[in-house]
Amino acid sequence: MRENWHDRFAESPDCLKSAERQQTVVPVLDFEVGGGEFVTMAGPCSVETEFQLMATANHVRRAGARILRGGAFKPRSSPYAFQGLGLEGLKMLARARHESGLAIVTEVMSEEDVPMVAEYADILQIGTRNMENYPLLEAAAKSGRPVLLKRGMVATIAEWLRAAQLILENGNPNVILCERGIRTFETAMRNTFDVAAIALLKQISHLPIIADPSHAAGHSDLVPALARIAVAAGVDGVIVEVHPNPAKAWSDGGQSLDFAAFDEMMADLEPYLALRSHSGISPRKTAQMRSLVAVG
Ligand code: PEP
Ligand code: MN
Repeated sequence: MRENWHDRFAESPDCLKSAERQQTVVPVLDFEVGGGEFVTMAGPCSVETEFQLMATANHVRRAGARILRGGAFKPRSSPYAFQGLGLEGLKMLARARHESGLAIVTEVMSEEDVPMVAEYADILQIGTRNMENYPLLEAAAKSGRPVLLKRGMVATIAEWLRAAQLILENGNPNVILCERGIRTFETAMRNTFDVAAIALLKQISHLPIIADPSHAAGHSDLVPALARIAVAAGVDGVIVEVHPNPAKAWSDGGQSLDFAAFDEMMADLEPYLALRSHSGISPRKTAQMRSLVAVG
């Protein structure tokens, strides 16, 4: 029997497609996420130094990225690991936006930090460890900034949509879902990339959805293949970790692409993006993006 998704996800009615709402388009600076153009977000796991951030921003922009990622507040698995530069990191991100023209996505970890992070970021990232931190989601929603909601590493799709519903209910329609892999019995990869969740959400939800192949894979060698699979599944964009020297990265170096590998991944995705023209991602927009890159 065909699953009745509206019944299954009845607690998140505003996330589901309806006659009135087929696709949410999230405005960011002078472009959109979910509006047909495939959007690449790229940058280091953590903001480390001015040089690291600027070199990465300039490189990923030239390769076609629209959004610079980089954590100033880092949720870490170890209390002894680098926790981020905080406000200093946010200021570096703002300078990188000014110099590169890229929009900024960065994580906010606590309710109290929302106003400060919202002052510097174009999109607030809610990390996997905070997906069900409802006071944080509420504060992020009320900031008025678009929210990139990462899937909790042990969250079902229903739980993920309920978190998105909370943001919508707090008056913020600009939610971008991000599949970043979930924990399963498989431990060879950092996480298990749930590509079926992407396919399902493209069918039933109007919210834009992007993939994070870096955290899903945990190994830089696998990132381009997972990005390609995400494109085939219909994502509205990807968020990818890129570092000038991954071996020296302060966090997540093993899954970060260097500049050459990022360029290769972007070139590799092009024919797959062109194939999707029938599913709403227009090759014309990809071509426009290429010409922008050529003059940029
Ligand atoms: C990150 O984007 O660097 C990050 C910590 O992601 P996640 O919350 O998906 O682990
Ligand atoms: Mn990371």
